[in-house]
Amino acid sequence: MNVYAERVRALGTENAFKIGDDIRRCEAAGVDVIKLNLGEPDFNSAENINEVAIRNIRDGNAHYTDPQGILPLRESIARQVTETRGLQVDPQQIVVTTGAKPPISYTMMTYVDPGDEVIYPSPGFPIYESWVTFVGAVPVPLHLEESKGFRFDAADLERLITPKTKVLMISSPSNPTGGVLTGQDLQDISRVIRERADPSIRIYSDEIYENIIFDRKEHESILSIPGMATNTILVSGHSKSYAMTGWRLGYAVLPTVEEAMIFRQLNINIISCTLPFIQEAGKEALDNEKNKDIIVSMVREFERRRDVVVERLNRIQGIHCNKPEGAFYVFPNIGGVCEDLGIIKAYEELSPDTKARTSPSTLFQMFALYHHGVATMDRRSFGVIGSEGKHYLRLSTATDMDSLKEGVRRIEAASLDRAGFEAFMTEGSHLY
Ligand code: PMP
Repeated sequence: MNVYAERVRALGTENAFKIGDDIRRCEAAGVDVIKLNLGEPDFNSAENINEVAIRNIRDGNAHYTDPQGILPLRESIARQVTETRGLQVDPQQIVVTTGAKPPISYTMMTYVDPGDEVIYPSPGFPIYESWVTFVGAVPVPLHLEESKGFRFDAADLERLITPKTKVLMISSPSNPTGGVLTGQDLQDISRVIRERADPSIRIYSDEIYENIIFDRKEHESILSIPGMATNTILVSGHSKSYAMTGWRLGYAVLPTVEEAMIFRQLNINIISCTLPFIQEAGKEALDNEKNKDIIVSMVREFERRRDVVVERLNRIQGIHCNKPEGAFYVFPNIGGVCEDLGIIKAYEELSPDTKARTSPSTLFQMFALYHHGVATMDRRSFGVIGSEGKHYLRLSTATDMDSLKEGVRRIEAASLDRAGFEAFMTEGSHLY
C-alpha cells in the first residue's frame, strides 16, 4: 500500500518559498545575495495598525470568533468595496480568511468537480494551477503575451470557453507581470462571458494588488461592470496594500449569501476563524484615513524603482522588459540571453528527467543565484503548463534602490559570463 494519497502528486507549490532554501545555502557558503525574488513589500505595517493589534491582545481579545469574520470588519470591507467598485454589498456576502490565498482553494472546492474546466492566467500566481490540478479539474491556461502588455482580450478568452468552463480566474494588477486590465478589457471580457459561458460560471477576480497602480491610473474591477456581480468572487486583502503579509488577512466577497455560507463552513473545517486581534487591526487599516497616505507614498516609491529597473534592464543585450503598470514586479524577456549564453542548447542536452523539472530560464535563474549572487524567479514558477519555450524572469522591486541597481548589474554580469555558465552546467548541482 502507498503511504501517500494519489491526489498529493497533483499538488503544486509556490517557488517563492523554495528559493529561500537556495538563498540560505548560498549565504551559508559566504555569498551575499541580492534578493529580487521577494513577493512582499519591503515596508512594515503602520504603527496605528500595530497598536490596535497589541491593545487587543492585551485586552484578551484572543479567543475563537465568528468563522465568517467579525461583523465590524466585514462592514468596513463592504463600505470600501462600495466606495471603490460602486455597488452595494451585504456584509453577509463577505468571508474573512487568513490571507488572500485560502479563497483560491475554497473556490475550487465549492464550484469545481473533477473534469470541469478552469481557465486561469499563465504566467499567473502559481497557486491557481496548483489547486486546479489538485481538485482534478482540467487546467486551461490563458496565456498572457508580452506583445499585448500581458493583458488578454475577448478573442483570447473566447477561444477557451466551453460548456464545461466552471471558473475563470483573473488577476489585475498581475503577479508576476505587473499587467493591468483596462476598463475596456473588462467590458469586452464580460461581454464574451455573457455570450459564451454557462450562466453558472464564476469569475475569480484576484485584486490583491488593487492599490498598487502606476502612472496615475485607477484600478478597474470586473465587479463594477453592470451585471457581473452575480458571477464574481472578488478577492483582496491586506498583505500588499498595507504591507501586512505575515499578518495573514484577506477576504472574499461572494455573489450570494448562500455561497458565503459555504466559504464560512470551509473556514470552520479548516481554520475555525481568522485571528480576532488581526481582524481588529485590519479594520483599523481600512478605516483610518492616514493609511491612504501611507499607501500613496509606498506606491510612489514602487513606481520610481520600476522606472529605474526597467530602464537598466533594457540596456542589457538579450533582455527586453515591458513597463508594468501595477504591482511590484517586472517580468523581463531573457530569450536573447538564453541564446547568447548557450543555455537553450545546454537545456536540450539534459536528460529527459532533468528537462522535465527545469527550463532555460530556470537554468539562468539558478546560475545567476549561485554564481552571481542575485535571486530572481523563473517563468515556470508562475504556471508550468504550456510554459515551454518562454524565457522570462520575475524581479521584485520590493527592495531598496541601491540593491535593485546592484541586482540588475549582477544580472548583466551573469548574462555575459559564458565560462561561468559552462562551469555551472559542469557542476550540475542546482539545475532546478
Ligand atoms: N494572489 C496573488 C496574485 C498574490 O500575488 C498573492 C501573494 N503573493 C496572493 C494571492 C496571496 O496573498 P496572501 O499572502 O494574502 O495570502
